[in-house]
Amino acid sequence: MNRLNIENLKNFQHYLHEFQKSSRRATKNSNIKITFDKKYGKQIRIDDVKIAIDHWNPAADLIFFSHPHMDHIPNIPKKSLKQIKDRVLKRPLFICSKISKEIAELRTRKKFSFPGSMWLLGNNLNLKSSVDYKGLTLSLIENGHTYGSCSLFIEGSERIFYTSDFTGNDKFLNTPFTALRGLKPLECEHLITECTYGLPKYIFPSFPELSMNINQNIQNNLLLNIPTIILAYSYGKSQTILNSLNPSFNILLEKSIAKIVKKLEALDLSFNSWQPYGKYNKNQLMKLRDYVLIIPPYEMFKEPYKTLIADGANVIYLSGKTFSSDARERFPADHYYPYSDHCDYNQLIDFVQNTNPEHIYLEHGNMSAFYYALNKLDITPNSEI
Ligand SMILES: [Zn+2]
Ligand SMILES: [Zn+2]
Repeated sequence: MNRLNIENLKNFQHYLHEFQKSSRRATKNSNIKITFDKKYGKQIRIDDVKIAIDHWNPAADLIFFSHPHMDHIPNIPKKSLKQIKDRVLKRPLFICSKISKEIAELRTRKKFSFPGSMWLLGNNLNLKSSVDYKGLTLSLIENGHTYGSCSLFIEGSERIFYTSDFTGNDKFLNTPFTALRGLKPLECEHLITECTYGLPKYIFPSFPELSMNINQNIQNNLLLNIPTIILAYSYGKSQTILNSLNPSFNILLEKSIAKIVKKLEALDLSFNSWQPYGKYNKNQLMKLRDYVLIIPPYEMFKEPYKTLIADGANVIYLSGKTFSSDARERFPADHYYPYSDHCDYNQLIDFVQNTNPEHIYLEHGNMSAFYYALNKLDITPNSEI
């Protein structure tokens, strides 16, 4: 089963379609090549500089790392790390935020660690940072997907914008140490964007509306002496939902989530007050019945959470995939809220329109359907797949 999944993932990642706006008679700039390599993932070559994207590549001049979700963390083989140390391989230059670096190291239990020399940009105190490299200007731009998550904007003979996973939504802007800024469109010639939710059925409610509904749901249950368990992905949704909960709730975090939040607090981000689940045991909690516990979805089938759910806790599942009956069947819950740190369909369309690119490269989701939608809206007239 596992092998099959890995194979599927590989095939899936192999798609990186380029759509060209033929109506503008965009001239092919031979200084720019955006490709997908089976072994080393996405690469951008511009003006003789080779940039690897969210992937280790020993031949790259620069390695851009957008955010610490597992499929984006560059996995540097031990052998290569040794070769770098022995100076057999040149030391690669990384571009990423400090938060992404720290969380990647934490999540991979130090199996992944950056070799010494690197640029760290775009941490929370330095919202838009750039470096110049061989005639290019490379900027990291916050994109709201997770804390520390960034898109890459390259200015050389042309402008290339790699969004990685992103959302246009801002969150918590009134509180400087929790603010998450969504990605704003920048005009470019080449846009490489995800289209995870690039189908018209994917329209998400606004974050304030979502938070209000969830808090109301939890409050109603607490009044009936029913605690709540929230199923949310451990890096990303868990942190945003933690900060949107009513601070008077008794908030508990599952171990892996607690570890990440603790690390982010050490990096000067601030969160609602919380306690690690480990402070309690399930018998205490079954008596207390006043908690709001955040766990990653798969944990619901494991102890002690299984027992707490069987004991009658109210289960809320937060996911962009709550539209699919598959996801609902996989994670049975009392309430499903469509929530994602990716763009919904309308945001994606707006974003592409406002970046006004000559070349569009799509990844993730149903690329052909999204391309078709762009085409229909006359964003890429007469394009070819
Ligand atoms: Zn992601
Ligand atoms: Zn992703």
